[in-house]
Amino acid sequence: MKTKKLPERFCLGCQQSLPKKSLVRIVRSPEGEYAVDATGKLPGRGAYICPKAECFEKAQKSRGLERSFKGKVPQEVYEQLAEQVASLEKSQAEAGA
Ligand SMILES: [Zn+2]
Repeated sequence: MKTKKLPERFCLGCQQSLPKKSLVRIVRSPEGEYAVDATGKLPGRGAYICPKAECFEKAQKSRGLERSFKGKVPQEVYEQLAEQVASLEKSQAEAGA
């Protein structure tokens, strides 16, 4: 009998290994566009982060996104992603309340 382990991924911010479904996926499409992938199914290279502004800030400071995507991440992309992460954090806080 096999026990199925939950897939885990490292958060770009806090560097902890966490269940994939508690993280959000940030994806860079083959066209080079960045997005927060709520469905986990968008094509492209992905990186994972906790849906927390705190972790996003850490990832930004440590250049975790650049390292994951092996390329430069424009400031406007950071701003967009930060906004999306913040709204996810907010909706999760509301759902949990
Ligand atoms: Zn984190």
